[in-house]
Amino acid sequence: MSEINVKLGLKNVLSRIEEASKRRSSEFEGKIPQLVAEFEGKIPQLVAVTKTKPVDMIIEAYDAGQRHFGENYVNELVDKANHKDILEKCKDIKWHFIGNLQTNKVNKVLPLPNLYMIETIDDEKLAAKVNANWPKYGSPDMRLNVMVQVNTSGEEAKNGTPPSNVVQLSRFVLENCPNLHLHGLMTIGLFGYDLSNGPNPDFILLKQCRDKVCKELNIETKDLELSMGMSDDFEHAIEMGSTNVRVGSSIFGAREKKT
Ligand SMILES: *Cc1c(COP(=O)(O)O)cnc(C)c1O
Repeated sequence: MSEINVKLGLKNVLSRIEEASKRRSSEFEGKIPQLVAEFEGKIPQLVAVTKTKPVDMIIEAYDAGQRHFGENYVNELVDKANHKDILEKCKDIKWHFIGNLQTNKVNKVLPLPNLYMIETIDDEKLAAKVNANWPKYGSPDMRLNVMVQVNTSGEEAKNGTPPSNVVQLSRFVLENCPNLHLHGLMTIGLFGYDLSNGPNPDFILLKQCRDKVCKELNIETKDLELSMGMSDDFEHAIEMGSTNVRVGSSIFGAREKKT
């Protein structure tokens, strides 16, 4: 195994995030006041994605100051969130579940220590089940953060609700899920999009979804985050308005292929 310097990788990604945020605001400066206000002083959240990576690397990143971590396999998250070293050394860790969540796995994820957000709510049945079960595990006055996952690329293999259903699903969460807090919208998008063809259409579409949801459900733009951007495209995603980037291999090194 090659030596990966997690601290350095993290530092590097954080500074690229900051630079990209500056480009975003200077682009808007003096032009569209409401957009400047929308992003005022806000550096996008880095979610460090640690799937397939060992607990030691998580602790290393935590020690370097990182708090938000993402995992997308249920069993792996269960193991890591309950790992004794994580419990002992990463008391303030904030777990984001970013993978496909089947309704029959909800009760494995909800009890996890330091579960912070589920980014992948993609239908009403799942939202309803998470909502109904959260009070058993969360503290009574804390709603669970969720994002609605949108299948912006329309690929059959991708999860997420179709763009045409985002308003309806978001409304369902707002009106029928009092134990959930609708934190934002999330997309994965097409892999390997070539930026020389212009802005990534998945990111444009997610932004349009947010505009529609905000308008129809009376939410302020700044109160509905956009989770988009991974190792290959997080800077571009930030320039397009992302407030939450999920970055793995740029910090922790390439992953071995799952077999
Ligand atoms: C693996 C994964 C990421 C991170 O991917 P990298 O290319 O390693 O940065 C982000 N989001 C989701 C949903 C993932 O599954």
